Amino acid sequence: MLIIGGGATGTGLARDLALRGVGCILAEKQDINAGASGGNHGLLHSGARYIASDPASARECRDEGAIIKRLAPQCVEETGGLFVAVKGDEEGYIADFADRCAQCGITAAAVDPKDALEVEPSLSPDIIAAFAVEDASIDPFKLSLDNLVQAGTLGTSQLLHHKVVGFDKRAGRIEAVRLMDFRHGTDVRVHADQIVNATGAWAGEVAAMAGAHINMVYSQGCLIVSQMRIGERVINRLRKAADADILVPAGTVSIFGTTSKRIDAPDRCRPTTAEIDAMIDDGMAMVPKLVDTRYIRAYAGVRPLVRSGNGSDDRAVSRGYSLLGHEADGLDNFITITGGKLTTYRLMAEKTADLVCRRLGNSTPCRTAKDPLPASSEARYTEPGLTPKMWFKKNDPSDLLLCECEMVPTSVFNEIAAFLTQNGHRPGLREMGQRSRVGKGPCQGSFCSLRMAAHMYNEGMLKDGEGIDELKDFLNERWRGMQPLLWGPAVSQAELQEALHCGLLGLDVSH
Ligand SMILES: Cc1cc2nc3c(=O)[nH]c(=O)nc-3n(C[C@H](O)[C@H](O)[C@H](O)COP(=O)(O)OP(=O)(O)OC[C@H]3O[C@@H](n4cnc5c(N)ncnc54)[C@H](O)[C@@H]3O)c2cc1C
Repeated sequence: MLIIGGGATGTGLARDLALRGVGCILAEKQDINAGASGGNHGLLHSGARYIASDPASARECRDEGAIIKRLAPQCVEETGGLFVAVKGDEEGYIADFADRCAQCGITAAAVDPKDALEVEPSLSPDIIAAFAVEDASIDPFKLSLDNLVQAGTLGTSQLLHHKVVGFDKRAGRIEAVRLMDFRHGTDVRVHADQIVNATGAWAGEVAAMAGAHINMVYSQGCLIVSQMRIGERVINRLRKAADADILVPAGTVSIFGTTSKRIDAPDRCRPTTAEIDAMIDDGMAMVPKLVDTRYIRAYAGVRPLVRSGNGSDDRAVSRGYSLLGHEADGLDNFITITGGKLTTYRLMAEKTADLVCRRLGNSTPCRTAKDPLPASSEARYTEPGLTPKMWFKKNDPSDLLLCECEMVPTSVFNEIAAFLTQNGHRPGLREMGQRSRVGKGPCQGSFCSLRMAAHMYNEGMLKDGEGIDELKDFLNERWRGMQPLLWGPAVSQAELQEALHCGLLGLDVSH
């Protein structure tokens, strides 16, 4: 089996198949969660957001959200959620909300606006209605890493930084998959009985290489991260799904968004100042302090949507998943799974694994709806607040902090580097950022990037000019998220960064 794509769907599928005794290779062109699984809101949906636009997805989210809370509690913060309406919001929608939720089997309890304000003081005093729902916050990095770690212990291997660039076909079958190993600049060929295309928004591009057509729509969503956590619960605007209507707490910060902007290719995705300005203007009606909050980062992801008609409203395209067997395209060992949600990743993996197993003649049932997802030590460092606690408790003066904002010590860096090396991957700054909190604080990597690079030279992990390339790559990615938010204190931060990285180290000059 070859799985293409290392997002929540691909890693969830690797685990599901491994639990059924199917050996897999997972190939990812960058690192784990490089696509939408690392660029989303982190909301474990109760389903209430979709009651009007897509009741079937609402029910799926309800069921899958409950399974994830029960079986993967280490990835979830059970914050609960509020849907709130402000003056001027559509009264008919507010009046029907509880009934529509009930029709989908979703709990929505009316809350007096005064009580809502008491528990969430950042809400606007102008709210006119509120309902409590079972939304939660989820850590998508921990989720994917935990899935992959268990799959790995059961025999799955990973090819990170390997991009699928073509397929060799013969008589209705894919005989070999051609990959490019970016780190070493070499070509690799994989021969597999079955191949699953789990590449999210890139599913159309990958299917086209195999001669199959999928009608994808690319809908960019933009999100911003506040420096501090705003509120305890997920806060949703009580209206038909629109821009700027969800605020999700994520550990020590909050994530506000999102937008829906059509783009013509998934690689063109990047957050823009115009989207962010419009989002804050709109969101202020629900949470006024959004206007003077300090934001530390913006990011964007592309929703993998599969279109059946020709309409222009991307929010009207189903948020359900698409599982395609490609028999009609004349292929009998190629499958695509795309669309859906982070919340429904397990179900998507289950249905895909069922199809794979039917084709392989394997009748072992799915176990992921019953077996807990083991919490791995490899994934634990994505948790905000964990490393400071560990560091203080250990009280070891020789364990220097590499990242002061998020308090990530050298010992944690070394542990993650060892996990990566054991799995055959070269540890780099970006890999550290995906697996821990380094670079995620207010300085966005200004200082920790330099300390990490110095530590890597000391430990022999880098030589010659490699550290300069690592730094440029890491800092360019952080800059992408800072650049659209340059106002207030963020401008001073950016100027300090420019002085350090360009004035002192000349990182803007090509070497
Ligand atoms: C802005 C935004 C907000 C969202 N918010 C939420 C939310 O709050 N809750 C929720 O439940 N869902 C949310 N979603 C939806 C959710 O993020 C996605 O449905 C889910 O992450 C898709 O996972 P995936 O693994 O299918 O795709 P992806 O995570 O995109 O993974 C696909 C992977 O394939 C890799 N790849 C692509 N081409 C190749 C190739 N040629 N070779 C090898 N690898 C390749 C990519 O690098 C990528 O890592 C949101 C989506 C967006 C964009």
